[in-house]
Amino acid sequence: HAKETGSEWVQFFNENLNKRSVRRFEMRNKLATALENEEFYLEYQPLVDMHTNQWVGLEALVRWKSDVGKTPPDVFIPLAEETEIILPLGEWILKKACEFSNVLRQKQLPITISVNLSALQFSYPYLIQMIDTALEESEVSMSGIELEITESLLMNNEQEGVKLLDELRSKGIKVSIDDFGTGYSSLSYLKKFKVDKIKIDRSFVKDIPDGDDGTIAKIIIELAESLQMEVVAEGVETKAQEAFLTQEGCRIAQGYYYSKPLSEKEVLQTLETG
Ligand code: C2E
Ligand code: MG
Ligand code: MG
Ligand code: MG
Repeated sequence: HAKETGSEWVQFFNENLNKRSVRRFEMRNKLATALENEEFYLEYQPLVDMHTNQWVGLEALVRWKSDVGKTPPDVFIPLAEETEIILPLGEWILKKACEFSNVLRQKQLPITISVNLSALQFSYPYLIQMIDTALEESEVSMSGIELEITESLLMNNEQEGVKLLDELRSKGIKVSIDDFGTGYSSLSYLKKFKVDKIKIDRSFVKDIPDGDDGTIAKIIIELAESLQMEVVAEGVETKAQEAFLTQEGCRIAQGYYYSKPLSEKEVLQTLETG
């Protein structure tokens, strides 16, 4: 009798495994088709110097619009990771960002574009080859592109991470830690992994100047300063947040207070009219 129960359990387990892999297979197809049908596009959100109001950079953010409407990246990026479609999609994103960077350069608008990387893309030598190809094809100089990575990404591949960051740096590509403070990294990681920039996660900007958010943001700004890293505040939506952040020594921000993510056309219009 026990044997029978066991095999029922195995059967149940297999069915579920099956359902899961079928679902993953379908999702993979959907995303691959979307990539083929050019349903993805990029928007760019300006990074702003709070002292001068000048745009000092742009962050490329991927969008997916299909016949059923828009799906936010917080939903489809994890699916693209799970199905590994993030590899060709990420390559496409980098290529598009390089192409736009080239357009900006030709118009004498030398603004750096930062591109988000997901953990699957952060492996050696895959990443270096992909970057070399994208830069060659678009004739963009290395300084036209920066990369954003998350803390968890570094923690998963410690040794490779150090090697990769060194190689990127030697190519003149700057790297930021995105969503800083929300991962699981310890402070010693910041010493081990030499990055150029820290982006304060918007959850620590949200309630500034009230509550603990101000204190946390302040500590991150001090930390960046003492490690000689640049610091960027994400999700700035109010004048009060700007006042607090600049007072504490943070100069660069990104957020709806300045601009939402824009199309290429909107970026060009704004930059060209000064
Ligand atoms: P992220 O890299 O931290 O990007 C910043 C997110 O904050 C963007 O959301 C942006 O639209 C949003 N944001 C900017 N200013 C404000 C603000 O003032 N208030 C609020 N509430 N939100 C603001 P988005 O575009 O929905 O992207 C979400 C996340 O999806 C990104 O977070 C990033 O982790 C991921 N993602 C987006 N594009 C890409 C991509 O091309 N590749 C990869 N691997 N991930 C991407
Ligand atoms: Mg980012
Ligand atoms: Mg972020
Ligand atoms: Mg985020």
